Amino acid sequence: IFPVCIIFMLSVFYTSYGQQVQDIEQKIESTLLKMTIREKAGQLNQLDGRGIHGTIEELKALIKDGEIGSLMNITDPEVLNDLQEVACKQSRTGIPLIFGRDVVHGFKTMLPIPLGQAATFNPDLIKEGAKVAAAEATEHGIKWSFAPMIDICRDARWGRIAESFGEDTYLTGKMAVAVVRGFQGEDLSNAQSMAACAKHFIGYGAAEGGRDYNSTYIPERQLREVYLPPFREALNVGCASIMTSFNDNNGIPATGNKYLLNNVLRKEWKFDGVLVSDWGSVIEMIKHGVAEDDRSAAKKAIEAGLDVEMSSKCFIRNLEQLVAEGQVSETTLDNAVRNILRLKYRLNLFNNPYTNTGNSEVYSAKHLSIARKIAEESIVLLKNESGILPLSDKITSVLITGPLADAPHDQLGTWTMDGETDKTQTPAKAITAMYGNRVKVHFVPGLKYSRDKDRSKFDEVLKIAGSADVIIAFVGEEAILTGEAHCLANLNLQGAQSELIKQLESTGKPLVMVVMAGRPLTLGREIEQSDAVLYAWHPGTMGGPAIADVLFGNAVPSGKLPATFPKATGQIPIYYNHNNTGRPATGKEKSLDDIPLNAKQSVLGHSSYYLDIGSDPLYPFGYGLSYTTFEYSNLRITNDSLSYLDTLNISIDIKNTGKYAGTEVVQLYVTDVVGSVVRPVKELKDFKRIELNVKELKTVHFHLPVSDLAFWNIDMQKKVEPGKFKMMIGTNSQSGMEAYFEVQ
Ligand code: BGC
Repeated sequence: IFPVCIIFMLSVFYTSYGQQVQDIEQKIESTLLKMTIREKAGQLNQLDGRGIHGTIEELKALIKDGEIGSLMNITDPEVLNDLQEVACKQSRTGIPLIFGRDVVHGFKTMLPIPLGQAATFNPDLIKEGAKVAAAEATEHGIKWSFAPMIDICRDARWGRIAESFGEDTYLTGKMAVAVVRGFQGEDLSNAQSMAACAKHFIGYGAAEGGRDYNSTYIPERQLREVYLPPFREALNVGCASIMTSFNDNNGIPATGNKYLLNNVLRKEWKFDGVLVSDWGSVIEMIKHGVAEDDRSAAKKAIEAGLDVEMSSKCFIRNLEQLVAEGQVSETTLDNAVRNILRLKYRLNLFNNPYTNTGNSEVYSAKHLSIARKIAEESIVLLKNESGILPLSDKITSVLITGPLADAPHDQLGTWTMDGETDKTQTPAKAITAMYGNRVKVHFVPGLKYSRDKDRSKFDEVLKIAGSADVIIAFVGEEAILTGEAHCLANLNLQGAQSELIKQLESTGKPLVMVVMAGRPLTLGREIEQSDAVLYAWHPGTMGGPAIADVLFGNAVPSGKLPATFPKATGQIPIYYNHNNTGRPATGKEKSLDDIPLNAKQSVLGHSSYYLDIGSDPLYPFGYGLSYTTFEYSNLRITNDSLSYLDTLNISIDIKNTGKYAGTEVVQLYVTDVVGSVVRPVKELKDFKRIELNVKELKTVHFHLPVSDLAFWNIDMQKKVEPGKFKMMIGTNSQSGMEAYFEVQ
């Protein structure tokens, strides 16, 4: 009887869901029938509400004439409701507007930057964070967030790595799903749901040289294996929209790439949501040199499959005429309009267009505690020599120094248009408030901001350092050095920060370095000079208490690096899942000094290696220590000979062998030993967060469908190839227990 019940319930669910879909499609068709070509073009026109596209009165006039379909960057609910009223009551069609905003990592309550969120390896928690963002944003009328950014990034020079979930496709996919689910809720029609927008489609994070907006050259196999899967994952859980990217890939700007937008997204993946351009990326096709003028840019974009044009008015300027002249078919236009209308129906805007400015959840205790938890779990312990952390009870005085110790704006990170600086809880303030009764806290910043070169306050810092039991130095980068269009060619600490660390080390006092940054920085020397190092990213509103908790042992660090940390910028791109080369480094390479003078022949062994710095990273992907230690043992596979329909069942015992209860992120990597094409040295396939009390042992089970081992083979077909596979379960991408299995 049980299976029958389930089948019955499922069929009721699918019938009612199918009915809902059908109803929406019918409504779309009847709305379309009422619209003029101009009004249709208007639905595809997205403008900014901050004054660049006219005053509020001017926007109202356009809305009344049916010339605007969506608006960005208006966050005052009263203004927003006022504009909505014009759309619903004064325009001929009465079609509501959608209001969009870049709600990238929180709205008012700022969560850690996405790169920090990825370091939690905790999608469930990240989903809660996205819910916080959606609750606060929808309360302000925002029903469309231009996030998550799920560009894979293997180059920390790119300022937008801060906004990404790092270098790994699998982890990014999991985070994408978490954010989409958090934003969109159970049902898009709920008041606290907002449409997600997976961006940027596609390859934007692979900008050559890490320079924003630069070209990319991603071949199809890599596109399909590395860059596209997170988008597919997002769509699998109903992501409502996708944004095209600025870059050209292999000569074709994304916004005009018919193959990717139409063939892959629409036909292969059956995407029926909205495809929105990035800011002005339609007219940028003129600068790219693939469109002669405004008109041909519009034609190219709509024919490629784009629906909504962001900010350049190119569609509204041209589409009516292009259709009238038969240059663009009305069917093409209608299809785009259907997609934006579908989103408006799904969001229930026709029935519920206004924002209810009732009870506010902004900065509620619940929101702050979720932000704090994410910040705490995002912190990565990189070094803890002689166990200086957590700070012992015996410590009676600390010196807090460095430009990021009390930088309420900078610790929020990039894209914090709505977060309020005066709500930020900084480490300097939090440590004083939380632990000031236990230890004497001295705070001397030494430098005003990360680029500050003025060393004149160093003497004062050093004087106090002399009398403190421990020094905690908060260094890193200002928020403005990261994010869009903020790329760097050097990833060293800016200003006089390195000098500050060096001088602090020379005091001989225990030195804890806390880094707050939007990207992996090249910190080899400073890490060597420190006794302990915490990487806290830009941790958001609640960064201060989260860091304080970790420093003083109220929380045990569990974050893991979502991106490889290079030793030097010259090693970039450096990422763990690179292809097998025919000449991997052996570890026996000699150093630069070993090359004999006037040597005629290499003594170094001809491996893939940098003479001066080697090929190993400073820290590998997935790396992160804890205050406790974990022992991995007893790796077993239930069946090491499988067919492609099977599931690989793996178990491993993890024991907490240290002195603190802690959480370990257990990571599963797989290598396809022989493929029809060169395969990555390993790929993350699953991970689990395990909480363990002192001395506790848990058996962790992984169930990996063999179909997850498929890749785009020599014939460009996605297949699992029979043969031998190696898997590794470990604490990071470089160390763990290994075993082999066979797929028949
Ligand atoms: C960015 C997008 C963003 C858009 C709107 C663009 O410059 O690339 O990610 O959503 O602006 O703010």
